[in-house]
Amino acid sequence: MLLRTLSNLDDLAYYGKTVLMRVDFNVTIGKDNEIGEDYRIRMTIPSIEYLTKRGAKLILMSHLGRPKKIAEMEYKQIDRIQQNTTSGLDTSAIKQFSLLPVAKRLSELIQMYNVSFIDDCIGPKVQKEIDKMDRGDILLLENLRFHSGEELNDYNFSKELASLADIYVNDAFSVSHRKHASIYGAARLFDKKLAGLNLKKELEYLSMVKDDPVKPFILVVGGSKIKDKIGALENLLPKIDKLLVGGAMAYTFLNANGVRTGDSPIDYDHFQWIKNALSKYPDKIVLPIDHIVTSQSFLKLKQEESNEKKEEGKEGNENSTFDSLPSPVSSPSSVSSPSSSVSSPSSSVSLKKGAIEDGLLGVDIGIETVQQYSSMISQNSNGLVVWIGPMGVFEIGLFRNGTNNIAKSMALAFWRGSKTIIGGGDTLDALKKAQVSELEVTHVSTGGGATLKFLAGDEMPGIEVLNKIH
Ligand code: AMP
Repeated sequence: MLLRTLSNLDDLAYYGKTVLMRVDFNVTIGKDNEIGEDYRIRMTIPSIEYLTKRGAKLILMSHLGRPKKIAEMEYKQIDRIQQNTTSGLDTSAIKQFSLLPVAKRLSELIQMYNVSFIDDCIGPKVQKEIDKMDRGDILLLENLRFHSGEELNDYNFSKELASLADIYVNDAFSVSHRKHASIYGAARLFDKKLAGLNLKKELEYLSMVKDDPVKPFILVVGGSKIKDKIGALENLLPKIDKLLVGGAMAYTFLNANGVRTGDSPIDYDHFQWIKNALSKYPDKIVLPIDHIVTSQSFLKLKQEESNEKKEEGKEGNENSTFDSLPSPVSSPSSVSSPSSSVSSPSSSVSLKKGAIEDGLLGVDIGIETVQQYSSMISQNSNGLVVWIGPMGVFEIGLFRNGTNNIAKSMALAFWRGSKTIIGGGDTLDALKKAQVSELEVTHVSTGGGATLKFLAGDEMPGIEVLNKIH
């Protein structure tokens, strides 16, 4: 699809004009208003600077979290908050979804520009603030999802958003699979609607993966939800050279292949699809041969501990049980040989080859699998490696060895000349936990769900609308 991007308009077309840009500033904000990973914010800097340098008055809009769900408030109540008719209502639940801390972070990042913030995203108060803007100024609007019209793609809400500016830009690939007002309804109402530089970059890399992948092409897939990934797998399997499967989803694959998987979770909804894929592509699909296993109760205990630490802000880089073992990717020339029997310092966790007996479940790929996957990835030096989803319960240090080593192998493949792409969300977090820099990856996609939908060939309303004439 040929998209109109920022450079399709003359530089002068932006001078003194108001530009409404949809960004994805949906970042984690701690109790003390500290911003967690700010990759998504940083990725919008090229478009922000492109527009402000050309004299645009730049209005940024984003959502943050799910205020509706978490605050357990009816939209009606939230809307009443917007209309200041909320006497007696506890608004503290809402405040945690304010984008104000993001405005501060953005201002620190881009230093030379003045970033202001307004505590709503539509209405006369917002218009008044826009009227005060000068060329090169930036205004961040409050969380779009404080209005029910956003997720409902409401026409009136879309119209109000569209009335704020002359030009519309979408620089939020990660939400472009949603038909929300700021992504679709408002965009439709503009004559001038363009893709931002981050969206353009995402589409270039992901279109290459989807339509014309560099070969050999290895896809590494993990995590737990098969449902989200099946479309992408269906679409990509014919083009893939090897599919390396890890994470919880590997147990459904193994089970479908007749291997005993103990108490590991099995996704029966997609069982038949997996069986068919395994018989159609027996040489492409590679499954774990050994596993880190534990009991359901020990996993639960560790998950509770990890959640508590997170809440206290003490989440550390606790080491994996198997970290003392030689790393399979410690240096390009020293890929160590498989270790056949290893016992864990913790008796609740062990390494199992082959079948998993009842009472135990797989929580990470095992040492031999790590070595096999790592060497396949890191030796694919002229090809393409795409990685989506962790290899185990990586939030817990004990079960992070597989994910850590895949991250390191991705970096090694990159340094050896491979094109490497990782899907956002969990996988970026996993990369950070493995102390691999995002600069050691060809492209880190900002999208989780959007990336998978795009790779599945699904409709992307936020992208398609940019070519629509209303
Ligand atoms: P997804 O959102 O589908 O990419 O899944 C990510 C989640 O999968 C992470 O929270 C991991 O903890 C979880 N996960 C990965 N491997 C396993 C496993 N073997 N058992 C249970 N959960 C897992």
